[in-house]
Amino acid sequence: MSADRRRPSVRPDLVAMEGYHSPQVTVPVRLNTNESPFPPPAEFGVELAAALDGLAWHRYPDRAATVLRDGIAALHGLGAEQVFAANGSNEVLQTILLAYAGHGRRVATFEPTYALHGHIARLTGASVVEGERDEGFVLGADEVRRVLDEGDPQVVFLCSPNNPTGLVDPPELVRAVAERCAEEGRLLVVDEAYGQFAPWSAVSLLSDDLPLVVSRTFSKTWSMAAARLGYAVGPAWVVAELEKVVLPYHLDAVKQIAGSLALRHAGAMEHRVGQIVAERERLVAAMGALGVRVWPSGANFVLFRPADGDGDGVWQRLLGAGVLVRNCASWPRLGGCLRVTVGTVQENDTFLSALRAATAA
Ligand SMILES: *Cc1c(COP(=O)(O)O)cnc(C)c1O
Repeated sequence: MSADRRRPSVRPDLVAMEGYHSPQVTVPVRLNTNESPFPPPAEFGVELAAALDGLAWHRYPDRAATVLRDGIAALHGLGAEQVFAANGSNEVLQTILLAYAGHGRRVATFEPTYALHGHIARLTGASVVEGERDEGFVLGADEVRRVLDEGDPQVVFLCSPNNPTGLVDPPELVRAVAERCAEEGRLLVVDEAYGQFAPWSAVSLLSDDLPLVVSRTFSKTWSMAAARLGYAVGPAWVVAELEKVVLPYHLDAVKQIAGSLALRHAGAMEHRVGQIVAERERLVAAMGALGVRVWPSGANFVLFRPADGDGDGVWQRLLGAGVLVRNCASWPRLGGCLRVTVGTVQENDTFLSALRAATAA
């Protein structure tokens, strides 16, 4: 008997799927995964160490994550019953999809967008109906209508600011999609991993009779990618369904404490966001002056395409100069594009001079 006949097969729908890939390369300037270039404030580390000192390691953590959810709820002026917290917003999305998607159901995405929306949907057994943004990556109301009518999805994803394009969907569009979803019995999920960098948030639309959920993360704006903490805010009746699906005690005690303490430093977070937004605008202007095509961004990254369309070549030359950006050049609909995360002033200067050299004719 051959060795692989001794290996049980996975679900047939998983056979052709690949895992999530994002190369982690050790280079001096890492601008490829949209993390914050700044660590959290020093006091945060001191407070966390003190809190861990008294931790009851022999006990399971608070299953309801009461303190953390109260803190998040207060941040948004909501009730704790409207907050669902999980291990990164990816686990939030997975839980939403386990509850509302799954086998025989459909999930709508508008491409190009965050690959994990479709990927996690497929992992739950759902199929994905892909709508299209236009050449400028703007999402039109007609296209949303077409996808909802033809695809009949149970879950609809928007991502605003959209990763990897950086564009922000306007409030009128998101409100209209949410109202349509309400009429047709669909759930709208707005992924706002980059929400604080943008001029408006769909959190302002939340209401108990609107099937709208907004997901957020501590990974980007809160400088806490290492903690793996994210959350969704939405109607209490959605949160109750998510609580049914998620594993008991999924949020460990250290993470709950870290998240609660981080919230005390919201002012410092806003300050870092302000610095990053200012640097983003400087980058956009400087990149435009170098002749690369740049898309307007409401996030902490910028999508761009070298004038000659040779994204692979420029990516390689940047790497040679010690600067790692995300190579989207071979992704569908993103031919020749690269995505750079906004870093510190020095990192951005290094990137800009490397880009100048890499794109010089
Ligand atoms: C980074 C990112 C996430 C993942 O966030 P985690 O909280 O780190 O899991 C979710 N959505 C989008 C659009 C992202 O870019």
